[in-house]
Amino acid sequence: MNEQFVKETRQPEYLRKLDKEHYFHPTTPLKLHQENGPGLIIKEGKGIHVTDVYDDVYIDGVSSLWNVNIGYGRQEMAEAAKQQMMRLSYGSSFFNNSNDQVIQLSEKLAELTPGNLDVSFFTSGGSESNESAFKIVRHYWKLKGRPERTKIIALDLSYHGVTMGATSATGVREFDHMITSSAPGFLHAKPYLTDCEKGDKSQPDYESSIRGIVEKEGPETVAAVILEPIQGVGGINIPPEGYLKAVRELCDEYGIYMIADEVICGFGRTGEMFGVDNWEVVPDLMSVAKGITSGYMQLGAVLLKSELRDELAEMSDDVFFHGFTYSGHPTACAVGLKNLEIIENEKLVQNSKHMGDELLKGLAYLEEQHQVTAKSRTAGLLGAIELYADRDSGKAFDPSLHAAQQVVEECLSRNLLLRPLSFGGMNAVALAPPLIVNKGDIETMIDRLSGAIKAFENKVL
Ligand code: PLP
Repeated sequence: MNEQFVKETRQPEYLRKLDKEHYFHPTTPLKLHQENGPGLIIKEGKGIHVTDVYDDVYIDGVSSLWNVNIGYGRQEMAEAAKQQMMRLSYGSSFFNNSNDQVIQLSEKLAELTPGNLDVSFFTSGGSESNESAFKIVRHYWKLKGRPERTKIIALDLSYHGVTMGATSATGVREFDHMITSSAPGFLHAKPYLTDCEKGDKSQPDYESSIRGIVEKEGPETVAAVILEPIQGVGGINIPPEGYLKAVRELCDEYGIYMIADEVICGFGRTGEMFGVDNWEVVPDLMSVAKGITSGYMQLGAVLLKSELRDELAEMSDDVFFHGFTYSGHPTACAVGLKNLEIIENEKLVQNSKHMGDELLKGLAYLEEQHQVTAKSRTAGLLGAIELYADRDSGKAFDPSLHAAQQVVEECLSRNLLLRPLSFGGMNAVALAPPLIVNKGDIETMIDRLSGAIKAFENKVL
C-alpha cells in the first residue's frame, strides 16, 4: 500500500464513508447509521481521555462500556501483551492442556473472589460467561439425575448479554424482543422485593418475586437464579439492604444455585473488589469479564465453588463438552494478570470508593442546581442521575423527547462521554469513569454535566 493511499484512508471523512459502507455496528440504530454515518470515531486513549479523528479530546465518563477500569494507554499492559505474544501467543486448553498464564490467573482470581469461588472457566466475554454458567448448572442437575431442573430465574431489567441463553435471561425487553423466540426455561421476577424473598406472602407482589416464581414452578424444576449485584444497563439499580442476602437464603433453602453476574460490578467498579462484597454475600457461581482486563484484551470467566467442580468431576468420566477456542487464551490471561496487579498496586478499589463518594456529592450538587434532576446514586464509581419533567410528582418526560439522550448529546458537545439509560420508562444518565479518576476530574465531569443539563432545561422548560 502506498503512503498517500494510507494517508487518504485515514482522513476523517473517508473513514466515515468506509464505516457507513462496510461496518455493521453492534447495538446501534442501523437506519441512523446509514443516514448519518458513525458518531464518534476515536483513535487514541490516554488515562481517562480519548481523542477522536478530528483531534477533539473527551473525558470518557463511562469507561467506554464500563470496562476500561485502569484507564487507557498503559505501557505496562502493552508490554505484558508483547512479552506474552513473543513467548507464547496462543495455546489451547482443550483436551486437558494448559498454559502457565491461565494457571496463574485462575489462582489470582481464587485469591480475589469471596468464599470458595476458587475455580475458573475462561471465556472471551460476559455473554459467554453467563452462557457457560447456565450450561454448568444444567449439566450438574442432569448428572445428578435431575434433568428436569433446568429453569433459570432472572430479574426484570437485568442485562446478561446477547448470546441465546444470555439474551433469554436478559430482562431488558428490548434485547429479547430482537428474536422471535427465546430459549426455553428462562423466567423473570420483579427485582428487589426483599420481604417477598424472605417469605412474606401478604406482600401484593409476592407471585412476581423470585420466591413466588420458585414456589409456583416448583423448586424441583429450578436450576439457578441469576442477578447482577447492581443492575447496570437496566438503570444502575442498587438493591435495598438485605435483598441479596434474602436471595442467598432463598437459594440455600431450595438448593438452587445462585449466579452473580459481576460483568460490570467486578474488579473495583462498585468500591469493593466485587459487587457482592458490598453485602458480604457469596454466590455459587460468578460471571466476570470487562474489568478483568480493563478492555485491553477480550476475556471473561465464570468462577465456581470448588465443591461444585468436585461433584461434577466425581459424577462423570465423560468429557465436559463445552469450551471456546479462546478459553484460557495465554495473551489475554497475561494482560488480565497485569491489569489485576495494577488495580491492586494502585489501590484502585479504594479509589473507586472514595471517588464514588465525591461523585455522589457532585450529583447532589446537580440536584440543587437543576430542577429536572433527582434520585442520584452511586456505588463506588457506578452512578446515575435521573431526569423528570416534575421531580416532585415523579412525572416523567414524554418518551418522544428522549431526555437522557438529549443530555448525553449536550455532554458530547462539552467533550464528556456519558451514557443514557432509558429502559423501563426511566430517563437516567449513567456515570462510570475509569477507577483512576481524581477529585479534579470528577469536578470537571460534574461541571460539564451541569452545563449540559442547563442547555436541556433551556430547551424544554
Ligand atoms: N452481563 C452484564 C451485567 C453486562 O453489563 C454485560 C455487557 O454489558 C454482559 C453481561 C455481556 O457481556 P459481553 O458484552 O462481554 O458479552
